[in-house]
Amino acid sequence: MASDNEFKQKLSDEQYRVLREKGTEAPGSGKYVDFDEAGNYACAACGQELFKSDDKFESTMPGLIGWPAFSELANNDAVKLVPDNSLEMARTEVTCANCGSHLGHLFENDPSSPTGHHYCINSVALEFKKKP
Ligand code: FE
Repeated sequence: MASDNEFKQKLSDEQYRVLREKGTEAPGSGKYVDFDEAGNYACAACGQELFKSDDKFESTMPGLIGWPAFSELANNDAVKLVPDNSLEMARTEVTCANCGSHLGHLFENDPSSPTGHHYCINSVALEFKKKP
């Protein structure tokens, strides 16, 4: 696993703040919010595959608009879910199972999601890899 110093060197300040300090990018600011190319999304910190473009969807859920939304994981081992009670809300944090970086949150009840699940993920936590 990479050291804190290695993460600092590899990541931008904003990526480090989100991935390593559990930050949240400003809604609508991320480069993958309005983006629908075919490919895979990997962890920006370690490169592990996390999501597929087929599972990206446009959510209409108030409060969850402005970040990339996925209805499913690329595979079930990709992330680790962690209870998060910060900000006086019971939420589920989504972290990269490989490097432990913070990615975003999982919401279980989004009627606009094909699966009902809504993985609300920060753009800066992701690296898009175009389908060859
Ligand atoms: Fe990772």
